[in-house]
Amino acid sequence: MDDVDVLVVGAGPAGSTAAERLARHGHDVLVLEEHPRVGTPVQCAGLVSQRVLDLAGSTGFVRTPVRGATVYGPGLGSVAFKAATPRAFVIDRAGLDVHLADRAARSGARFRTAVRFDGLVERVGGRTTVRATSADGEPVEVRARLVIGADGVSSAVARAFRLRRPVEILPAFEAEFPVSPGDPEQVEVYLGRRISPGLFGWWIPDGAGGARVGVAVDADGTSARAYFDRLLAQIARRLGAPLANPTAYLVSGIPIGEVPRTYTDGAALVGDAAAQVKPLSGGGIFTGMRCAEILAEVADPALRRGDVSAGALAEYERRWRAELGEEFRRALHLRRVVARLSDADLDAIVAALRGAELTATIVAFGDIDFPTHVARRLLRQSPALVRLLPKALGAWWSSADYRAPELDPGPRRK
Ligand SMILES: Cc1cc2nc3c(=O)[nH]c(=O)nc-3n(C[C@H](O)[C@H](O)[C@H](O)COP(=O)(O)OP(=O)(O)OC[C@H]3O[C@@H](n4cnc5c(N)ncnc54)[C@H](O)[C@@H]3O)c2cc1C
Repeated sequence: MDDVDVLVVGAGPAGSTAAERLARHGHDVLVLEEHPRVGTPVQCAGLVSQRVLDLAGSTGFVRTPVRGATVYGPGLGSVAFKAATPRAFVIDRAGLDVHLADRAARSGARFRTAVRFDGLVERVGGRTTVRATSADGEPVEVRARLVIGADGVSSAVARAFRLRRPVEILPAFEAEFPVSPGDPEQVEVYLGRRISPGLFGWWIPDGAGGARVGVAVDADGTSARAYFDRLLAQIARRLGAPLANPTAYLVSGIPIGEVPRTYTDGAALVGDAAAQVKPLSGGGIFTGMRCAEILAEVADPALRRGDVSAGALAEYERRWRAELGEEFRRALHLRRVVARLSDADLDAIVAALRGAELTATIVAFGDIDFPTHVARRLLRQSPALVRLLPKALGAWWSSADYRAPELDPGPRRK
C-alpha cells in the first residue's frame, strides 16, 4: 500500500497545481487520475486570463490571444468591445493540463493514471486509507495524512467525506468546428432564453481557423443538446449559412453556487469539486488554480506541524473566501437576476450597452475573472441600464455598502 503525506485525487488544473506546490515543499505527494492520459478528454472551451498563464508559469499552450467580445441579443442586435491589447487567451486545454502535471512531476509528485478513487476505508491515528480501482479492475489502497479532492464537478471525494455539493450543476454541451468564419481575436456571446437560459452561448476562435461553440443552461428538463441546436440555428441565421462538420462533442456540467464548507478533518476540496467557479461565466480554471495555491500555502505548515485537522484547514477556506467570496456572491446574485430577464429585456440591455461611453468602460475595465467590477461601474454610469433591471438589483447594486443579499438557492439539481 502507498503511504504518503498527501493524496490528490484528480489531475486537472486544480489538482496538479496543489500537487506541485506541496511537492516543491518536500512533501510526499501522490496524484490519482482516473483517465489513462492527463488532459484527455477535454471538457472546456479554454478561454483564460493572463492570470492563468502567470500561475502556470508558461505560455506554451496558448493558441491565440483574444482582444474582445461581440455580444448578440436574442434578436441578433449586437454590441462589440475590442481592446488594443489581448484581454484573454484561447488555450490548448489538454496542453495546459499536461504542462501542469509535468511541472508537478518535476517537483517530485508521483502520478498514477487510470486509477479511480472509490471511497474511504478508514481514518485512524490522523491517517486516511482510501480505496481505488485501476483500469484493469485491480483494487488499490492508499494511506495519506491529507486527501485533496480535486476531482471535478461530480467529486467522489466530497461524497466520501460527506461534504455538501453545489446547489446547481448546469448541463453544458460544446462542439468543435474545423472551419468557422468570425474574427479570430474576438469571442462571440449569444444571449436569449431560447438559446441559453441562465447563462449564454459561446463561439470561441480556436486559433486554427475553427471555433469551439457551446452552451450551458439552467437545468429545466430540456437537454443542453437541444439548446445547443438552437444556438447553431441562431448562428446560421446570423451568418446566412450553417457551421458544418463538427469534429468533437463534449457533454459536461458546471457547478454554480458556493458549497457551505470545503474542508474537514484530513481533507479539503479544491477547484470544481469545491464549486470554485465564476457564476457569471462558468469559468473555473483561474479560480481553481488560485485556490489550489492557497490550499498548499495552508497545508504545507499544517503538515509540518502534524496537524491537518479541520481546525488547521479552516484557514484555507477563510483565505479563499476572503479573496474570491465577495466576487462569487455578487456574481451569483447578478446571474440570478439576469436569468429572470425576458428576451425583450436582454435586447434592450444589448442596445443600451452600445453607447460609446459604456463600451469604453467595458474595454477599459472588463476582466473575465472579476466581471462584477465592470458591471458595477456600468450600473453607476448608466441610470438607463439600472432601470432595465429589476428594482431589487438596482438598489442593492448601487448602494455603497456591500451586504450579501439573501440568495434564493433555487431547486437542487444533480
Ligand atoms: C463546456 C465547458 C466549457 C468550459 N470553458 C471554460 C473556459 O473557457 N474557461 C475556464 O476557465 N473554465 C471553463 N470551464 C470550466 C473548467 O473546465 C473547470 O472549471 C476546470 O476544468 C476545473 O478544474 P479542476 O481541476 O477543478 O477539475 P477538472 O478539470 O474537472 O479535473 C478533475 C480531474 O479529476 C479526475 N477525476 C474525477 N473523478 C475521479 C476519481 N474518482 N478518481 C480519479 N480521478 C478522478 C478527472 O478525470 C479530471 O482529470 C468550462 C467547463 C465546461 C463544462
